[in-house]
Amino acid sequence: MKAMILENICDLEKNDQPLRMATLPEPVPGKGEIVIKVSVCGVCHTELDEIEGRTPPPVLPMVLGHQAVGRVAALGPGAERFKAGDRAGVAWIFSACGSCEFCRTGRENLCASFMATGRDANGGYAEFMRVPEGFAHAIPDGLSDGEAAPLLCAGAIGYRSLCLTGIKDGQSLGLTGFGASAHLVLKMVNHRLPLSRVFVFARSAKERAFAIELGAAWSGNIGETPPEALDAVIDTTPAWKPVMEALLCLKPGGRLVINAIRKEAKDNDLLMQMDYPRHLWMEKEIKSVANVARRDVQDFLALAAEIPIKPEFQEYPLEEANLALMELKQRKIRGAKVLRIN
Ligand SMILES: [Zn+2]
Ligand SMILES: [Zn+2]
Repeated sequence: MKAMILENICDLEKNDQPLRMATLPEPVPGKGEIVIKVSVCGVCHTELDEIEGRTPPPVLPMVLGHQAVGRVAALGPGAERFKAGDRAGVAWIFSACGSCEFCRTGRENLCASFMATGRDANGGYAEFMRVPEGFAHAIPDGLSDGEAAPLLCAGAIGYRSLCLTGIKDGQSLGLTGFGASAHLVLKMVNHRLPLSRVFVFARSAKERAFAIELGAAWSGNIGETPPEALDAVIDTTPAWKPVMEALLCLKPGGRLVINAIRKEAKDNDLLMQMDYPRHLWMEKEIKSVANVARRDVQDFLALAAEIPIKPEFQEYPLEEANLALMELKQRKIRGAKVLRIN
């Protein structure tokens, strides 16, 4: 089968072709596993973190991609959740131990044995992928493959982030960064929390205009002061400046949720400017979001079908995965990017 593989960790400023097209043997499903013929796979910022070594695959080469949608092509021994031909998707969570305190309480995203799709096991930048059947997700009717793919990561983790803010209808929410996840959060808030106002902080004027188009109450550059103090902020940027600025925008008791798997080191020094009375005092909180649990994916897919949320996306052929990744790196973003494979 055709697959785009990562063979070496590299700096994307110096190498704009991090992945190479290769021919790999078709995966064979083991006990309780299925093989999916991938039709589309979403392209995510986390791939940039993997390629640049902020969250590197433990073994190389690796097939990246954790927003895969396709059809079940083969069933391993004992696999019976799906039938051949069923539509199925795979998100960031590839597997977890199933027996630790976190797995037993629905917090499998925190499991020490958590395996990530496309990092710890081959993912969806390929014609076929293998996954434990319990970690594959049925895709609701009414969403095309291309619409469903970005929902599997950006949507599911956006949903988890929004839940972790704890905001109630009528409270105000800031979003720093306005990529795939944030634009889906805005749509969720419009539906679930219609009285809440959303304030979007983004460096790119295009992203700021897109936010207003989608119903944000206000948009401004990182560092600008919004017209009101915020109950919560979700940060989806790779940098620290937006975090420092967001803390200044929070109301007393407000919460900042950082939805980033790793932060780039470029502006680490800003953290030394943390001024306790201005940035943290008055019971402000900082919380990170780690991975997703299966429940997040399932609940979010159901919500997306109900609203409905149909993400805006651009398609690239599998061969052009490097182009899609570089555009993401250069923040040429309007909605999501997906690779079309079959
Ligand atoms: Zn992702
Ligand atoms: Zn576990």
